[in-house]
Amino acid sequence: MSPTTTTTQRTIFTRILLTLATTAPTIGHLPTNTASERTTAWMDGGLAGCYDPFMATILGIETSCDETAAAVVVDGVRVLSNVVASQIDLHAKYGGVVPEIASRAHIERMDGVIAEALERADCASDDIDAIAVTCKPGLVGSLLIGVTAAKTLAWAWGKPLVGVDHVRAHVVSPAIGLDESPWPCVGLVVSGGHTSLYRVSDLDTIELLGQTTDDAAGEAFDKVATILDLPYPGGPHIDRLAKVGDASRVRFPRTMLGKESLDFSFSGIKTAVLYHVHGSGKTSGGLEKLSEQEVADVAASFQAAVVDVLVKKTMRALDATGLESVAVSGGVAANSGLRAGMDAACAERGVRFFAAELAYCGDNGAMIAALGDHEFARGRVADLALDASPR
Ligand code: ADP
Ligand code: MG
Repeated sequence: MSPTTTTTQRTIFTRILLTLATTAPTIGHLPTNTASERTTAWMDGGLAGCYDPFMATILGIETSCDETAAAVVVDGVRVLSNVVASQIDLHAKYGGVVPEIASRAHIERMDGVIAEALERADCASDDIDAIAVTCKPGLVGSLLIGVTAAKTLAWAWGKPLVGVDHVRAHVVSPAIGLDESPWPCVGLVVSGGHTSLYRVSDLDTIELLGQTTDDAAGEAFDKVATILDLPYPGGPHIDRLAKVGDASRVRFPRTMLGKESLDFSFSGIKTAVLYHVHGSGKTSGGLEKLSEQEVADVAASFQAAVVDVLVKKTMRALDATGLESVAVSGGVAANSGLRAGMDAACAERGVRFFAAELAYCGDNGAMIAALGDHEFARGRVADLALDASPR
């Protein structure tokens, strides 16, 4: 571990100890015995592999990229609070996430975000049964801040600590707030860093069926937005423009790879948009010649092509697995064209369609707490040696 990391960890350790551990709100909301009593009873019964029957209240912490987030979730599905401090304003001028800036911003915001999540949930530290935190994958400097905060609170409050995989948490996010279980299903995680199809038999059996071979879909949205001189991150801006654009104006390529392939490739369409805007083989000089309507038409045509591929591949995955449900999550799952296109395709086939609520599409603490609840109930707790891992 580098000396910088150690200093960073010490700083955050001290700040969180002094603020949160001593000043968290003290209003209890749980009618039964306190979480501390329940945790003690549970630990007395032995940790290994036991299934815990009580409805746990989990504090979820997420800092894998550029969102500082914390949430309180009961029983894995009932969200009491979900606080996300976005860093978009800090990274926008660089056109992407700058890891060093992200780490520093997490340090500044982490304790305030956790305190707000507890306050909005009307929870005191005593009401929390366990602390779940994203420990992989992501930017390691960012992950370290959340992991250190979680370890500090677990130690100071005497609570179990649960390490959570960020991508698995995205897979779980469509189930938040639902009364019924979406599993078994085909899961599509489509975000700034991932575009992957899974066979989700249950939360412990998630099998990768296919993934992007180059850019993630969110990355393609962001790069095409840059070509069209739209602000970062570009996904929401393309979505907005697509609503007023004509999607049939430009026929961008749909890269399907092999006939049965469940993998994705989005680098070709990005280049196709670049050359459409500037002229074949050129990388500049064309945008200013396009009218506002023509830019909107390019956005709509690009979005339609990406949605087409995502929907067709998901339908292929249904064919390949025989499953009868689809669950879509990740930042790009907020895209209105994707939600409508997937909904229509699923309705046509008579299969169930679940999309993560908009609040749980991008990175958030609720999905970390939701998966954390599942892991905690199965006794999969970490100790204070829990480390952050980029992969
Ligand atoms: P990651 O965890 O990989 O960093 P997120 O889950 O936070 O990614 O999602 C961020 C991505 O989602 C960005 O690429 C952003 O452009 C994209 N995105 C957000 N909203 C939309 C939208 N409405 N349409 C398309 N893409 C979107
Ligand atoms: Mg994410």
